[in-house]
Amino acid sequence: MWEVKAPSKVKIFTWRLLLDRLPIRVQLIKKSIIPSSEANLCIFCAINDEDTFHFLFQCTFSVFVWQQVYTWLDRAPLVGLDQADHLLKTYNLLKGSPGNNK
Ligand SMILES: [Zn+2]
Repeated sequence: MWEVKAPSKVKIFTWRLLLDRLPIRVQLIKKSIIPSSEANLCIFCAINDEDTFHFLFQCTFSVFVWQQVYTWLDRAPLVGLDQADHLLKTYNLLKGSPGNNK
C-alpha cells in the first residue's frame, strides 16, 4: 500500500480504513466520543447505521461517488464486492496493474 503514488494523507486514510479506525459514527459511539443516545444513522441516507463499510461502499451516495470516480478513470464501476475486494481492485487500478476490470 505504501508504494502507491498517492499523497500521504490518502495513504494514512487507507491505513486507518484497513484498521477500521476512521471516525465513523458507529466507531465514535463505541469509543464514547459521542453519546450513544445520538442516532448512529448514516449522515448521507439516514437509513442505515453509519459503519465503515456502509459509509464508504454501500450507501447510495458513496456508490454514486465511486461510480463517478470509475467513470472519470474510464473504468467499469465495481459492484457487489465486499470491502476487501473493493479496496484490492481500487489499489490495483491506482497501481496500474493489468487485470483490473476493464
Ligand atoms: Zn448511507
